[in-house]
Amino acid sequence: MSALYPWQENDWQRLQALRARPPQGLLFKGNKGVGELELAINFAHALLCQQPHSSGMACGTCPACHWLSQGAHPDFRLVQPDAISLAGEETETGKKPSKQISVEQIRELADFLSLSAHQGGKRVIIIYPAEAMNHNAANALLKSLEEPPRDMLFIVVTHKAQQLLPTILSRCVAFNLTMPDVATATAWLQTQGVKQPETALARAGFAPLLALQGDAQTGLDEREKLLAALRQPSVLDVFSLAEMLQKTEQVLVVQWLQQWSFDLSAMKLAGSVRYHMQDAAAIKKLVAAVEPLALARLQKLLQTAKREAQHTLNPKLFFESLLLAYRQLLTA
Ligand SMILES: [Zn+2]
Repeated sequence: MSALYPWQENDWQRLQALRARPPQGLLFKGNKGVGELELAINFAHALLCQQPHSSGMACGTCPACHWLSQGAHPDFRLVQPDAISLAGEETETGKKPSKQISVEQIRELADFLSLSAHQGGKRVIIIYPAEAMNHNAANALLKSLEEPPRDMLFIVVTHKAQQLLPTILSRCVAFNLTMPDVATATAWLQTQGVKQPETALARAGFAPLLALQGDAQTGLDEREKLLAALRQPSVLDVFSLAEMLQKTEQVLVVQWLQQWSFDLSAMKLAGSVRYHMQDAAAIKKLVAAVEPLALARLQKLLQTAKREAQHTLNPKLFFESLLLAYRQLLTA
């Protein structure tokens, strides 16, 4: 059991309201990296704990909490792909761990479902992430959801609800996770030692846990230099900038360019930005004389570039052509 993240207080309160009569299927819908699994686990623990705190959180000291911390509570199951549970290690047979939830994993729940609760209370199954279920697994789960034992709660966690069977969706009560607010998430990242928390957060699509991962923080210097150049397209030195960038991962650079380009369009069309809040004024000035069509072309170009970025042979040339196109479109 871990503490809630600071942006989850509201969601936690909403869960408490469900607590007296939890539904049999609960669909957690939210973005990746906002602590969606942790919230589900906290809720499961809280339901199984024998003496929860007044906040609703599990006590962490009762026998039930002890079993949970050992991964040995008989009334709790967490179903996830081997790729997540093994955390990058190989399987026993030396195969690459699967990214899918297999039908066998769901069928293994059958015994669990056929028994009644050891502790005479609730039983909880978490499926994470539900879109990792292959077709057969999803159908097998559906059978269980159709006639769940009375004491059973399924928490189905998903980042892509549109990929789930409509029949699964219709058997669950939807619970939309709140997106962390930027100020709270930034403050939290700071306590985690992230040096440029706002930048890392924006780069991670505003998912704080993704912002904490290494790849949201690598190349920050390169990104700063790139952005400084993008702010002044008329004096942008394409060749030296491409040379500076050539050792940075291409996909990452294209992603920075896409976020920048997104903000240019967003400012032009809606008067606001999403990723570069400190640059809002500069962006407003920059796009004032630019045609919306040019910005649309830029976005299109970067979409294509994103696909090409995976297999460019000459990164320097690749960046040169992108930066040239950028300079042309913004200064035409
Ligand atoms: Zn407890």
